[in-house]
Amino acid sequence: MEQLALLDGPSVKNISKDPWPQWPVWGKEEEKALIEVLNSGVWSYNGPKETEFNQLFAAFTGTKYSVCTVNGTVTLQIALEALEIGVGDEVIIPGLTWQATAATVIDVNATPIIVDVLEDTWCIDPEAIKKAITPRTKAIIPVHLYGAFADMDSIMAIANEHGLHIIEDCAHKHGGEWKGKKAGSIGDIGSFSFQLSKHLTAGEGGAVTTDDPNLAERLDALRNCGRRPEGSFKSGDKGIGDYGDDGNFLQSGNLRITEFQAAILVEGLKRLPKQNDTRDRNGEYLNELLKELPGILPLKRDSRETKKAYFNFAFRYIKDEFKGLPINKFRKALEAELNIVVDACYEPLNQCPLYVPHTKPARHKLTEDYWAQIDPKRFQLPVCERIFHVESVCLHHKVLMGSKEDMSLIASAVKKIYDQAETLMGL
Ligand SMILES: *Cc1c(COP(=O)(O)O)cnc(C)c1O
Repeated sequence: MEQLALLDGPSVKNISKDPWPQWPVWGKEEEKALIEVLNSGVWSYNGPKETEFNQLFAAFTGTKYSVCTVNGTVTLQIALEALEIGVGDEVIIPGLTWQATAATVIDVNATPIIVDVLEDTWCIDPEAIKKAITPRTKAIIPVHLYGAFADMDSIMAIANEHGLHIIEDCAHKHGGEWKGKKAGSIGDIGSFSFQLSKHLTAGEGGAVTTDDPNLAERLDALRNCGRRPEGSFKSGDKGIGDYGDDGNFLQSGNLRITEFQAAILVEGLKRLPKQNDTRDRNGEYLNELLKELPGILPLKRDSRETKKAYFNFAFRYIKDEFKGLPINKFRKALEAELNIVVDACYEPLNQCPLYVPHTKPARHKLTEDYWAQIDPKRFQLPVCERIFHVESVCLHHKVLMGSKEDMSLIASAVKKIYDQAETLMGL
């Protein structure tokens, strides 16, 4: 048996001979587009690249409108604002997500109600949503996490029954499809991030998608100092163009993207479908291999998910089947075998050091009552906590852009650790 890489044996994946694929991906196309923007002198907002990207992204997501903005955090904030959610309102969100999903609810002075997730998809649990609904509930923000899709059939049924808005947090789901409908086209508004780690990126950036012309108009204004778009969304044009000078439509600030970012996004979007297909093919194959191994549970692929879009590749680790080997040691050993970072999932929001809403008393009116409602510690999230502390294993999505052979190497590395779990226990 080969010695473990942690004990100075050979790594399963030798990156000096055969490196992992790079992320981000770019080429001459991006270079040309950036030079074009540079030489045009049109560097700021509503230029031809941004207009083109918004049209392409709306078509890609199967929505009528896309509006670009600076990141996938303010997309959530302006989505909440466009839906007129604020003081006294409750918004139901999953406990496993990036902190922005919760922080933006606080940013509009509403109350995030944090509920548990399903253990096999890590996405929001529809039964937990039902239990959390009160007369103050205004919206749900399902997050399509890592490789999975929130159960949009159940979520839309709950929303319709109770008259709630849905903002889909699609920061991990550019191009994913549920029963033939694209992520970001199912709820009222889709929220996307183009941050560097995401699988469509301009370094930073974000977009909101919607079919509703009134929401599109508000979203467009909210990212542009509140200006009313002069072109009318209702008449079918994209609303971008000159602006009236008859005063602001809404109070807001500058949350606009640059032409440089839009130029990169136009090119990145052309690459995305093929990249998604590669990640899907490899992900399926890797899951096939992993599910044969003891102690490893792939995330469930819902049969209603008609097109896959992976962000990171995640799976569940069952310590008891690895002779009790703690997950931290498993992750370290896997990292050494694969020569790539092996992470846990996001920290549950009731324990997340980046979600600390009580630290802004000057911005939010933290009355005793409001504080009691938003205190992250009050939410019980046993499934999120178990996934984070003892089950989650996450790899960067670039591993899924490798060869079929790379997928076999990942599975072999897991098997190698399994076979020598006892040795690792002693370390
Ligand atoms: C990345 C991310 C965001 C925030 O996007 P940024 O562009 O980084 O602001 C929001 N929600 C989820 C689930 C994310 O992963």
